[in-house]
Amino acid sequence: MSPELTAMDTDHRLDRLRTEFDSEGVDALLVTRPINIRWLCGFTGSNGRLLVTRDTARLVTDARYTEQAAAELLAAEVAVELDIVAGDGGQAVSDFLKVNRPTGIEARHATVSEHRSWQEQSSQLVATEGLVEKLRQLKDDGEIARLRRASEIADVAFATTVPFLVERPTERRFGAELDHQMRLAGADDLSFESIVGSGPNGAKPHARPTDRVIEPTDLVVLDFGAKVDGYGSDMTRTVLAGGAQGTEPSKRQADLYDAVAAAQRAGVAVVADGVAEVEVDAACRQVLADRGLAEAFTHGTGHGIGLEIHEQPILSTRSVGILRAGLVVTVEPGAYLPGFGGVRVEDSVVVTGSGCEPITHSPKGLVPEFTASTTERTPPNGDDHE
Ligand code: ZN
Ligand code: ZN
Repeated sequence: MSPELTAMDTDHRLDRLRTEFDSEGVDALLVTRPINIRWLCGFTGSNGRLLVTRDTARLVTDARYTEQAAAELLAAEVAVELDIVAGDGGQAVSDFLKVNRPTGIEARHATVSEHRSWQEQSSQLVATEGLVEKLRQLKDDGEIARLRRASEIADVAFATTVPFLVERPTERRFGAELDHQMRLAGADDLSFESIVGSGPNGAKPHARPTDRVIEPTDLVVLDFGAKVDGYGSDMTRTVLAGGAQGTEPSKRQADLYDAVAAAQRAGVAVVADGVAEVEVDAACRQVLADRGLAEAFTHGTGHGIGLEIHEQPILSTRSVGILRAGLVVTVEPGAYLPGFGGVRVEDSVVVTGSGCEPITHSPKGLVPEFTASTTERTPPNGDDHE
């Protein structure tokens, strides 16, 4: 926990969930996905069942978690009863299901054997899909504060680590340094294994660091993030490895970078409350298509971030949702040319009524210019949206 950060509104989440019960056709919900249990009541243990009715909630876990669960429920200030049981809590779940009422289960996360056993207890199981995940899209001030802090940590690590690129490190060595600097700057954990794609490896959007030596003339795609209280940041910058020592990009490198950077600005510029998610994707795609790079943009434009690094909403050509103020999403177009390399630029932004506010602030450009204000909170692109 980070007591100096704005508190999260965990205690309101169960009520938000209950307001969905009518439309889901349930009177109770059996929550089994650990990350959803964490979001609803603060419990971070690996073994838990959250039994939610219209007016009660009970966390069932085992004796290993007696102290931790009590402390986490107290810290979250939630009205959740704690039930310490032996084993997996099968009896408590069975008692819950045997009450004669429609009870939702998290269909995507139940195993076949759990489902079989639950069906023996209740004839009124209702499969729900992404119910808690849908609620998790909207972030409260405490969650946004954690995502901001995590993003600041990544900004600091980027500024500290990029100068090291001129020393021709291997991708693996550079990735380790980036991870190390995030931990030194206060990360509880990393959002995911940092992506370091140099030269031709940059053409793979999810390049894992290899033993390839990074040459001064390489473009390097760096995609990484830090976690604070479970909330993970996400940012990508593409740089010219030797830029700080005067290496100049080739025309092809510079053109590719300019196209992606323009696409990313175009995407960020349309993000606002009430805008269709698909419009953000279309804005990025149009800029790249205009420069003959439609085929080079091989993935979706963005995704929500939070307790999971890829969560709802997903911004792509298939998106059907509408952005709402309080969502935190990434905008990350890229262009990948096999054998040559790739460019991706990614910021995480908080959707607001009039536009959006970036929470990743690292300088952009093939040769990023670091100033004393690099990690300050002023949004570098804020004037796009005023
Ligand atoms: Zn990323
Ligand atoms: Zn991302």
